Amino acid sequence: MNNIVTKVYKPEIEKCPICGSKLAYRYTVSNKIIQFSSGNKSRIKNLGYSCVNQDCPASDVIFTSQTASKFCIKGYTYSAKVIALITILKNEGYSREKICAELALLGVEISDRNIDNIYEREKALLSADYKKNIETEYEFMANHYGQIRLSIDSLTINGKRVVSIRESFHNHQIGLHLFDEEDTESVKKILHEYVDDKRITCITTVRKMTDFFKILDKVVNRDMEYHHFIKY
Ligand SMILES: [Zn+2]
Repeated sequence: MNNIVTKVYKPEIEKCPICGSKLAYRYTVSNKIIQFSSGNKSRIKNLGYSCVNQDCPASDVIFTSQTASKFCIKGYTYSAKVIALITILKNEGYSREKICAELALLGVEISDRNIDNIYEREKALLSADYKKNIETEYEFMANHYGQIRLSIDSLTINGKRVVSIRESFHNHQIGLHLFDEEDTESVKKILHEYVDDKRITCITTVRKMTDFFKILDKVVNRDMEYHHFIKY
């Protein structure tokens, strides 16, 4: 048996983005074994921190690692890449038995039923009214915290690109989008809908060297506080 490695993640920020006070450990938000598309399994622990200043408007916020949050999708024990692959293969007409077989080749164990559940949830996220979510989530952040903080992830698999946008205070999914990998123009168009708002102060995203970061940074087109997902 392979030993399962435990990886512990803390928030990418050390100070409260609202008042600048220290963040202190509160509790472990998520602690579960995740299967990756490499066939590896890791236990991912996501530690929750909060602002020590009780008068801070964000004193109720539990800040977590955006890197770990992108691995530990609520209700799933599969990495975002495995989930994306299931969605893409299903869209291409693969039966769930065939998807099981494909995943088994990668070393990922999954049941037929799980494939259906994941696909239904992903389909709902992909067709969600993201414009409405942008409006609601941005209003909430601006009203409560005076700023908007986003987490934008991009991954490519099987000739497709999946872009996921979450807000960084409560980790709510705002949008999920699927593109042909080469279709950079469509990616830019969608990103504009998310990042043109001047109230956005911070984006946590993929590392600087990646093609996606170059696209994003060009679309953002102004000074922005960036944090990058920790390399896994
Ligand atoms: Zn604070």
